[in-house]
Amino acid sequence: MATSSSVNPAIGKALDKLGLLRDIDLVLHLPLRYEDDTRIVPIAEVRDGQVAQIEATVISNEVQQRPKRQLVVVVEDTSGSCQLRFLHFYPSQQKTMAPGKRLRIQGEVRGGFWGKQMVHPQLRKVEAPLPVALTPVYPTSKGLPQAYLRRMIVMALHRVRLRETLPDGVWQTIGPPPILAQPRAQAQPLWWPLDRALQFLHHPQPDVAIQTLEDHSHPAWQRLKVEELLAQQLSQWRVRQLREQFTAPVLKPVRKRGELALHEQLLGLIAFELTKAQRRVVTEIADDIARDVPMHRLLQGDVGSGKTVVAALAACIAIDSGWQCALMAPTEILAEQHFRKLSDWLCPLLVARGKQVAWLAGTQKKKQREHMLDMVRSGEAALVVGTHAVIQEHVEFDHLGLVIIDEQHRFGVEQRLSLRDRQRSKGANAQQASTGAVLEPHMLMMSATPIPRTLAMTYYADLSVSTIDELPPGRTPVVTRLIVDSRREELIERLKHQVTQGRQAYWVCPLIEESEALDLSNATATYEDLQEAMPHIPMGLLHSRMPAAQKQEVMARFSSGELGILVATTVIEVGVDVPNASLMVVEHAERFGLSQLHQLRGRVGRGSAQSACILLYSTGESGHLSDTAKDRLSAMAQTNDGFEIARRDLEIRGPGEFMGARQSGAALLRFADLETDQHLLEWARELAPIMLKDHPHLAEEHMQRWLGGRWDYLKA
Ligand code: ADP
Ligand code: MG
Repeated sequence: MATSSSVNPAIGKALDKLGLLRDIDLVLHLPLRYEDDTRIVPIAEVRDGQVAQIEATVISNEVQQRPKRQLVVVVEDTSGSCQLRFLHFYPSQQKTMAPGKRLRIQGEVRGGFWGKQMVHPQLRKVEAPLPVALTPVYPTSKGLPQAYLRRMIVMALHRVRLRETLPDGVWQTIGPPPILAQPRAQAQPLWWPLDRALQFLHHPQPDVAIQTLEDHSHPAWQRLKVEELLAQQLSQWRVRQLREQFTAPVLKPVRKRGELALHEQLLGLIAFELTKAQRRVVTEIADDIARDVPMHRLLQGDVGSGKTVVAALAACIAIDSGWQCALMAPTEILAEQHFRKLSDWLCPLLVARGKQVAWLAGTQKKKQREHMLDMVRSGEAALVVGTHAVIQEHVEFDHLGLVIIDEQHRFGVEQRLSLRDRQRSKGANAQQASTGAVLEPHMLMMSATPIPRTLAMTYYADLSVSTIDELPPGRTPVVTRLIVDSRREELIERLKHQVTQGRQAYWVCPLIEESEALDLSNATATYEDLQEAMPHIPMGLLHSRMPAAQKQEVMARFSSGELGILVATTVIEVGVDVPNASLMVVEHAERFGLSQLHQLRGRVGRGSAQSACILLYSTGESGHLSDTAKDRLSAMAQTNDGFEIARRDLEIRGPGEFMGARQSGAALLRFADLETDQHLLEWARELAPIMLKDHPHLAEEHMQRWLGGRWDYLKA
């Protein structure tokens, strides 16, 4: 272990924070950049802005008071002179830099008015031998000095055993990893042994093309990326294998002659025809759950594409086969809406079979809750709808066969993990006794934040993806307009007119409490302002801190058309469905992410009326939007296609966010980049199952090395 009890607490804490617990963690902590201390540069040859090391003699040394108290030292070599400035200094430093002393000085050189200058350079003794390799600069954290970290890494590199985990002869089966030839690397092999690659990346020779280290194209870097991607793929395949060992209930209704199956009855009941895309994904899901292997499927479809009815049909198939289904949504508003819709659709059909729909949420009354729990336990509840309350410990299912998670990206990784663990044991209860097998329910996750399909398929080896790529007919695309905040009054006038004509509008504000630092609109204040401006229009306020009952009431009044305007924070962002609402105003649109704006916009354009989304932006003090902010907002005006928006979001934010890395707090990939390294990913994807099958010990060692304690997260 790298950290021992002798490490001082501040350092221990910093190491912990950086995840540097084992020697291997230190060894895999790679430099951000390098400094070249292998050479001494004559002062005259140093360029403006260059970080360089010079060796020079101190000429003068004085403390100046103006413009600020500082120590100013002038040094000189045979080629020229340079001034050193220290804004913070100790008296001892003045001694170290007494006139006549010879020093090695390193820092960024600026060619200012007074000639060349360095601010707070590093000083070294002249006697020390010059290093032979570049000096690494590591990402570090408060309390962990760079020099200390460097020493720890050197020691770890010395101690650690970097056995190759790639099986011998693997290239004969699947070919070598597709590492691109480097212009400078002809003399060197492209495939580096792991230990050599790591030694090199920590202490590269000064003659390396530094560019190839910076852009990670150097063969040593490529080797590391291959390793990392392989670890990720191995863990994905292993999770998949683990899952496939479990048996799932076969969800396939037995048809009785002359009788319609439950899902067919539902189809007869709803007022619309399924789109082709909806029919396709229903078939994909039905095929999956008819097998005794647990389904693990992501259903993605743009906002408004009609995922709910697909979920309802899947639930019908499960129920019809004699199993329970649980549907979970990330917010109470959304869960409540699902509960209502699904009850409307299914209750009449279920009653005939002596079954019910149950509701579970954190805020419900104890008595109601007990009642619901009883129904879930006895199996009387064929369908259970709720928030994450559905997965809490005291919820016992009788025979859970299918779990549906709506807006799954909104659930944290922790919740997803606990969900998996919880249902496995629960699904097992009743059936285990009779069959002796542990049964795991099927899982359907739904999301309107699309992961680009190829990326999802390759990265998540453990996930099947169904995509609804078509909107129901008759939708008129939402018109999006950007309006500067100074035209707010004009906007309010137009809004008043529209709402008086019978249209309904959302007005979304970013925060609920005054935050002076951010100067964001306060939903309550906005609500009051708008009420004052439109006194005759019934208006409601909805924010996340309201009691659930009150939220439900406001939502119900808006759904029924009683309220003309709903002022809300982003609690309405996901899933809310009020078809008559056709106007959406988003205040401080520049503060929202693209996918979030798209979700918000998706709340309108659900009926046949022409809908509009107004993105109100504020330019702040500068009086204009930054270029990126402008690009982002115009992207919203240019396209209504959620996939396109996700693609642009990906460009702006990087793929990590799609993978839930943000929620887990740790980036899942540190070295490889899913976009540029796709070819390496594909290679790793091919190798992983072979390695698990033929070299399970090497696979295990490889995963341990790379993932250590983070393995669990990848299972989510
Ligand atoms: P999302 O995919 O965003 O969850 P919803 O399931 O909330 O979308 O569906 C949006 C709206 O479209 C709902 O009012 C729903 O009843 C309606 N809808 C769904 N499928 C169809 C269809 N095939 N034809 C017409 N309307 C549909
Ligand atoms: Mg939805």
